[in-house]
Amino acid sequence: MSFEHIDNNRGSKILVVDDNKLNIQILASLLETNKFDVSAVNSGEGAIKALKAMKFDMVLLDIMMPIMDGFETCMQIKKNSYFKDIPIIFITARDDTESIRTGFHVGGVDYITKPFNGIELMARVNTHLTLQRRTGELKEALRREKILASTDSLTKIYNRLKFDMLLEEKINETKRYKEPLSIIFFDVDHFKKVNDTYGHKVGDIVLVDIAKVVKREIRISDVFARWGGEEFILYLPKTDLNGAKEIANKLRLKVSEREFKGLDKNITCSFGVTAFRENDTQDTLILRADEGMYEAKRNGRNRVEVL
Ligand code: GH3
Ligand code: MG
Ligand code: MG
Repeated sequence: MSFEHIDNNRGSKILVVDDNKLNIQILASLLETNKFDVSAVNSGEGAIKALKAMKFDMVLLDIMMPIMDGFETCMQIKKNSYFKDIPIIFITARDDTESIRTGFHVGGVDYITKPFNGIELMARVNTHLTLQRRTGELKEALRREKILASTDSLTKIYNRLKFDMLLEEKINETKRYKEPLSIIFFDVDHFKKVNDTYGHKVGDIVLVDIAKVVKREIRISDVFARWGGEEFILYLPKTDLNGAKEIANKLRLKVSEREFKGLDKNITCSFGVTAFRENDTQDTLILRADEGMYEAKRNGRNRVEVL
């Protein structure tokens, strides 16, 4: 009979820590029979060294060892951010309640007393390896989900949701430290015409390209997002109105000078710029930048207006 979750654990790297050679031999032969990749050390210090040198999926840890005992070793491992998630199973002759309590207390996931039952030991090893693997998969999935939820799928810059979340935090900081904060809002001029003339696909490429042009010009601390459609927004921390106006003008020039693939005409954008004022909320701040952008449209497009 074969079980997928056990098959998936094959080849897992297991570190055996025991000061007794015979114990190591017994454990290693049992683990190797079950197709695990075993390394062994005879002290807590050796365990830390081995973990630093190689990636392990699990540690089987003896308690009674000279110098650094198993509890202390476990605590050291759990203190290190690189290894703290490696499951540790105590395998020990100490079967008193206080030791069992301490074993779990210092971060062990399981506690097995010697002499052990080989079948039970392998079952526990497999259970914890499977749990560990699935937790890792979940963490990775969550990491990807977070990126997906905060990214605009076309341009790969932040989306509006993420921008709103970051701006909220930034406004709080701005209030606390009384630092300037500016917003640039821009919209592509006559973009409908681009779609109508060259097709929606070319329109998409133009949006991606505009995002790239802008991304290249701004600082890492500046936050840039697609607000929706052909509208983009940025906030610039520690930047006053004059500074933001200069940057908006630079962005305006860079876009207008860019030759877009497949287009025989240049693209321009209209920009609204504003800076945080004491009584601003997130909404009033963005609204003012948006109004600035409309002012730029009214005044002939390919312009920057400050409000
Ligand atoms: P204005 O200078 O006044 O901004 O004119 P405009 O044509 O840019 O403005 P309008 O709001 O009339 O049209 C915006 C166009 O942008 C219409 C819409 O189909 C297009 N658009 C919005 N999102 C996308 C997108 O993701 N891809 C493409 N290709 N087009 C988009
Ligand atoms: Mg437009
Ligand atoms: Mg628009």
